[in-house]
Amino acid sequence: MRFNGILPQIGRCSRCSSIIDGNFILGIPDLNPLCSRCCNGRERLLEANSKFFFDLSLKKRFTEIDHNKFDENKTMDLLFTMILFIEDYFNMAIKSKPFILTDKTYNRAGI
Ligand SMILES: [Zn+2]
Repeated sequence: MRFNGILPQIGRCSRCSSIIDGNFILGIPDLNPLCSRCCNGRERLLEANSKFFFDLSLKKRFTEIDHNKFDENKTMDLLFTMILFIEDYFNMAIKSKPFILTDKTYNRAGI
């Protein structure tokens, strides 16, 4: 994403500009974040800690991140959101998506 100039700023809500310190969503079309107050209640929220994982993933290599600090299911929810963004942005389907994501991730997403 960084090599394609996609560097979303997820520290503040893109609608109300408040600092995101709780659960949030990332918009699939543009990765702009919305705080839980600005969501319409139908979206599956990402956990606040996902923001820290997202920030780390932009700064470090995957193997350099201490994954024990993050809940696996919540990290998979974030990965699922990122995959949906990439598929939408590049107008393509990632064929390996079913191999990357678990059935639990799909079930939590309501797919
Ligand atoms: Zn907001």
